[in-house]
Amino acid sequence: VEFILGLPKAELHAHLNGCVGMEVLFELADEFVEGIGFEQVPPNSNDIGEFFKVFGVIYGLVSTREALGRVTRGVLGGFIGRECEYLELRTTPRRLGRSSLEEYLETVLDEVERYPKEKAGLIVSVDRRMPVATESESESEEGITVEEVVNLAIEMKKQGRRVVGVDVCGDPRSGDMELLKPFMGKVREVGLGLTVHIAEIPGSVSGDTQHLLSFTPDRIGHGTFLSEKEKEIVLERRIPVEVCLSSNIICKTVPDLASHHIRYYLERDHPIVLCTDDTLPFRTSLTAEYALLLAKPPFGLGLSREEVRRVAEWSLEYIFVPAFILSDLFI
Ligand code: 5GP
Repeated sequence: VEFILGLPKAELHAHLNGCVGMEVLFELADEFVEGIGFEQVPPNSNDIGEFFKVFGVIYGLVSTREALGRVTRGVLGGFIGRECEYLELRTTPRRLGRSSLEEYLETVLDEVERYPKEKAGLIVSVDRRMPVATESESESEEGITVEEVVNLAIEMKKQGRRVVGVDVCGDPRSGDMELLKPFMGKVREVGLGLTVHIAEIPGSVSGDTQHLLSFTPDRIGHGTFLSEKEKEIVLERRIPVEVCLSSNIICKTVPDLASHHIRYYLERDHPIVLCTDDTLPFRTSLTAEYALLLAKPPFGLGLSREEVRRVAEWSLEYIFVPAFILSDLFI
């Protein structure tokens, strides 16, 4: 563990509401909410469809700006300086009561910006379930659109707030990714980083993965079910793959570590970034994920210390903020 803790590294794929500490959640449950019980969390939610229901319960508890600020502070403090040097936290803006999406992001950014820019940045997530624009026929429950979220991310970056990128996440069974293309083009134009959850489940919507790759993302998340042709594109363009081992095993998208696609990329010296995804439902930490690299099979991948060091270096190499700003991290 000391070897892992001593390795300089970054966490680049952590969803804010998936990384809330259990203690804070219990505090919030005691303080604010009536009628929401933890028994509503599927007891053994170990399939990706069930998995998204967990967030409904968390959202029920993280339902005020005060609560959001508190959980964000906890998540940042749990990672930065303990588990990693640098954190790119991601979150999907929601309306909390009467507050706006902008207020949601302001609340999170106020906490992120307590840290210097060499320590923390925010990625704004677009949920695949969101309708693309206000004219679209299918309004989401809260009426939040991709257009609104992307414009807000761009606007806040222009105001000098610490938004470093945009992510596409949410239930991989929903949404038409082709429709997102113009919005992701705008993201690229203003110099925000772009990462997309891709090929998380087998046989995802036809054409979906090709559309996501056509956005020319700077990084991709998961990439579990990329076809041979798609993998070639990833290798050719040297797109780093954000790998979340425990997440994949618990959601059963990968049967075991021995068959995890991380091996494919490591064998080709292709950059991967090891991440936690959601520490709360997957009961993990960044240190635990690195321990899986080092541990001998069948408990881990049995990598050498040098190989693990290389993985940690990649995590710092592929952050969204230009390297010269973060030169301290590369010494
Ligand atoms: P939030 O964005 O609310 O801070 O974090 C929780 C949200 O992140 C979830 O509602 C879900 O949309 C997204 N998310 C968390 N984990 C995963 C994952 O493994 N795959 C995908 N596609 N989305 C995820």
